[in-house]
Amino acid sequence: MLGLMQRRELLISSLIAHAARHHGEAEVVSRRDDGRIARTTYAELETRARKLVSVLRDLGVAFSDRVATLAMNSDRHLELYYAISGMGAVCHTINPRLSQDDIAYIVDHAEDGFIFTDPAFLPIVAAVAPRVAHVLRGVIALCEPDEIPACELPPEIALYCYETLLDQARDAPDWPIFAEETASALCYTSGTTGKPKGALYSHRSTVLYAMATNAPDVFGLRATDRVLPAVPMFHVNAWGLPYVAPMAGASLLMPGRHLDPVSLLALLNDERATFSVGVPTVWLNLIGHMRQTEESFETLQRILAGGAAFPRALIAEFEQRGVSVRHGWGMTESSPIVTANAPKPTTAALDAEALLDQQAKQGRVVYGADVRAENEAGEVPRDGVTQGNLALRGHWVANGYYLLPETEIAPDAWFPTGDVGVVDAEGYVLLTDRTKDLIKSGGEWISSIALENIAVGHPDVAEAAAIAEPDEKWGERPLLVVVPRTGHEPQPEDVRAFFNGKVPNWSIPDRVIIAEELPHGATGKILKSELRRIYTPREG
Ligand code: AMP
Repeated sequence: MLGLMQRRELLISSLIAHAARHHGEAEVVSRRDDGRIARTTYAELETRARKLVSVLRDLGVAFSDRVATLAMNSDRHLELYYAISGMGAVCHTINPRLSQDDIAYIVDHAEDGFIFTDPAFLPIVAAVAPRVAHVLRGVIALCEPDEIPACELPPEIALYCYETLLDQARDAPDWPIFAEETASALCYTSGTTGKPKGALYSHRSTVLYAMATNAPDVFGLRATDRVLPAVPMFHVNAWGLPYVAPMAGASLLMPGRHLDPVSLLALLNDERATFSVGVPTVWLNLIGHMRQTEESFETLQRILAGGAAFPRALIAEFEQRGVSVRHGWGMTESSPIVTANAPKPTTAALDAEALLDQQAKQGRVVYGADVRAENEAGEVPRDGVTQGNLALRGHWVANGYYLLPETEIAPDAWFPTGDVGVVDAEGYVLLTDRTKDLIKSGGEWISSIALENIAVGHPDVAEAAAIAEPDEKWGERPLLVVVPRTGHEPQPEDVRAFFNGKVPNWSIPDRVIIAEELPHGATGKILKSELRRIYTPREG
């Protein structure tokens, strides 16, 4: 129709092109494996990403081919994000913490022709390579030539140096234009049971996600922000920050493999971070360290935490340290963020305790996605008490898994998350459990997340996990496993007593076990399946 607005394809390359043109001086700071700090800008990074497109083409990568990365957060990984997706290929981020069986399976399933890897992960590639030699043609080490460790690959798989390839690149072509529905990135769920399954993102879903999640009530990044993604770029695209930060012109601080509390705090403070994101385990370790050393945050203003429930006691501790906490929820299949917890006008009327309770919820849905709690009959009341299976839909929610046609749902259907929770009248979602982690005692549901949140409020407890223990009389009873804070010795009876008055008596765990540590999965989540195997062997 005459006079209508312009139509432009929503392409990922437009994010970095915008950053280079309008925020060319904004920094990307990366900590290398040896601890050194490397600095670049969006302007330099975008030029190198375009050169990388000609490298990829010279290697033989074609439109819609899958190209894998096995790398921690760095400027080089960011260049790959933009070059691979920007040329129309698919950036397949692989989690190096997965088992070698899983890595071999997903490289084969995705048919990755090339793997770009941090030198530290070359031994993993070398171990897996013989099993995927029918698809894998080349391995590129993300370093300088003299930094490549010795490594043996099958003869048909070539080993290249990233910086050498870039030095030799002929030109830096303009970003190509193609349909926004083109696939851009692929991430396999860690899947504690069964084979990993791939969520395939598109240019359109990613750009809409970036625009929507940078609303003030979600990431809310500004050009003045300095952002430290403490969540790896292989865990659901570091929750989209590699796209959102360039869009906003915010600087990025990339921790590499140095995610230990000492390095993390140093990077936050030395590089004047204002915003950071990560899973609760990372924050828990950092706070534990800070309690001991009595250090403080010098510039950090806000964090967003998700990936697992963020306990209210930890929210309170961050706020005491001058850092505001936003809780978010999502999954690999939803890019990931669908809800984030920001105040509403009614929040102002809450007292301190009620406010913390509200902040511990997983938040309200972001425009562009929707959530509901449902049962067989459809949506359950949004009353904050009626529990249902949480389901999603939206511009960045999957409607099936990569190359698994049997998983496809109708285009406007609700995607089942496998999470259980309640939605209140104001739209705040509170997760009570994963379906498979539910505890049902005497016909009543007990929320393992609620028990864990209370337990970590105990002054002697650092981390806690609740699982169901088979019980002849009640069907199941909650069992709580707790890890002490450094230098503390919690007593089981004392921990049980701590629940009095906080939950109904029948919800209080029958048994409390003190453990040195809890098993964590490849993305930092507590592995309940492993806990059940250890502590309730009858369940298998
Ligand atoms: P992944 O796909 O590996 O990111 O895992 C997604 C799952 O992590 C979700 O389905 C939830 O079970 C869990 N999860 C993510 N964020 C939260 C949160 N804020 N609170 C509780 N569980 C969460």
